[in-house]
Formats: sequence, structure tokens, C-alpha cells
Amino acid sequence: MAEDKFFEDKFFNARVSYDADFDPRFAPRFAEIATFMRAPYRPDLREIDIGVCGVPYDGGATNRAGARHGPRAVRDLSTLMRNIHHVSRINPFSLARVADVGDARLNSLFDNASAEKDLVAFFSRFAEAGATPLTIGGDHSITYAILKGVVRQGPVGLVHIDAHTDVLGPIQGVRFHHASPFRNAIEDGLVDPARMVQIGIRGSHNTSEAWEFCARHGIRVIYIEEFDALGVARTVEIAREIVGAGPAYLSFDIDALDPSIAPGTGTPEAGGLTMREAQGLVRGMRGLDLIGADVVEVSPPFDPGTNTALCAATMAYELLCLLAEARARQA
Ligand code: MN
Ligand code: MN
Repeated sequence: MAEDKFFEDKFFNARVSYDADFDPRFAPRFAEIATFMRAPYRPDLREIDIGVCGVPYDGGATNRAGARHGPRAVRDLSTLMRNIHHVSRINPFSLARVADVGDARLNSLFDNASAEKDLVAFFSRFAEAGATPLTIGGDHSITYAILKGVVRQGPVGLVHIDAHTDVLGPIQGVRFHHASPFRNAIEDGLVDPARMVQIGIRGSHNTSEAWEFCARHGIRVIYIEEFDALGVARTVEIAREIVGAGPAYLSFDIDALDPSIAPGTGTPEAGGLTMREAQGLVRGMRGLDLIGADVVEVSPPFDPGTNTALCAATMAYELLCLLAEARARQA
């Protein structure tokens, strides 16, 4: 096809359709509304396989807020992504019906309990429609609400990549906050601690509560120092052995990355992962029976160069490839 004919056909005349592979070249990448990777906007979950959604909420942040602005910033930078993965050659849009379903809506900006309830209801709709969620946060509290919404048949396995274990108890009497999602999920029987692995953990604490919770529940914690010694390939082997063949969820906190490359987050911890390491870890999870995934804790007010949002969009794309392949297997 001559180049001018291509432009005529694709850039100006194409209509987004699931009848054929989604072609993002329907318009220049800087143009049009910035849905995730410029996927079609389809809020009706019954029409899709994978719904990318935003949770513009940071009411669970214990320190620096701003993750409520994460979804919009990540969507904007996600327009830099292209469809076909250069290693796996997966095109998620060929394997599954992928759409941006918009943001979760909250009835109150000021009430954590109300937000939790709204988010659980929002993610329950995915389970009811049989759609897989790929969520852009938002602070990490939301992962508990996601799991509560989508986990229906017994506890799932979990790959948790983060600087923090996120297993603290209530703070000031509130259980739904960003340092507690996995304690809440384990206590509610949503995650099986024996099928759970945490990778990239580091940083000082004021008490040993979190470390003790992990030890007591037999959670395999791969601290950043052990990760350094093991390397990506061996860490992947260990993680896959722990998570096994059953349904599993993957949660990626952007503060797992080193703050030199991802400063835009509420609780940065120096001495973190590189993007190549994080990409290697996620690519290594190919073949797991994933029922959903998220990228959380991007805080654009601390991200003037937008590199954190670019890293988050890139990780979300890596996850989308895994989810699309899992959907194709499950079909
Ligand atoms: Mn976290
Ligand atoms: Mn964290």
C-alpha cells in the first residue's frame, strides 16, 4: 500500500472495531482522547475480555498523597506504547477484546469506608461479566477492594512486586489503607499466603510488625538483597514454584522501582529495581493463570518529568500481554 494511501485509510478513515485486530494507527499517537494505549472506550464489561480501568483514589495514603492523579497520567504516557511485544511477539489486542472501561466512580471523596464499598462493587461487576481487570491506581489500598470484588472461588496466588510488604494492621482504627491490602486479603481468605511471593522488599521500619506477619503466615519474601544475589531468572523460578498452577493475581507497586527512575510515588525507597529487572520479572510470569493485575502508587505531583508514568504505562503493557495470553488460554 502506498504511504499516502495508508495515511488516507488508517489515519483519517479507520473506525475502531473488534471485528478485526484493533489498529492503533487510526490517528497519530498525540491525537484523540488518551484512553489506555488508545484502546476503544467501552464501559460495558459484557462486551469485552479485558477491561483497563483507573482508580483515581489516594485516600489510603499514609504520607504523600497524589496517586489520585495516576490513571490520567499513565493513560497519557501509554499512548507511547505500541501493540506488539518485541520479545514475546504477543499482540494483546489480537488475543483478546481489550478496552478502556474508564474510571471507578466514588460517591464520596472524603470517606474511606464509602470508597472501599464503591470499589468492591465496581470490581464485582468484572466477576459478574466475566471480564479481567487491569487496574491503574490509585494508592495500594485499592488492591484489597479489587481482590474482594473478583475473587469468588477460594483464595488465589499472588505475585506482589513492591518495596513494601503492605501487611500492616489498622491505622487510627481504619483497616482500608495503602499499607494493609495483603493483610486484609489474607485475613478475608482472598489470598493464600502459601501461594504468595513478595519481590523487591526493602526499607526501614519503626516496628517489626510487618516482617513478623509475613513470617507467621509463611509468606515468601524476597528482599532486594536476596533478589540481587538470585538474579531475575532464579527469582522467577522460585516465584513460579510458589504460585503454582491455580488462579493468581499480580500487583505491581511502582515504588518497587528505584526512585532515580520512578520518583513519582508517595513512599519512595532508595535501592530499588531497574526497569529491565522489573520487565524481566513480569515477563517471567508468562503462563500463570492470571485473573487480574494492577499498577499502583503513581503520584504525578512528584513526577515532573513524567518518567514514572512512562514506567507505569510500560509495566501495565507488560501485564496486559500476560493477561491477554491467559484469557486466550482460558477461552
Ligand atoms: Mn504497596
Ligand atoms: Mn510500596
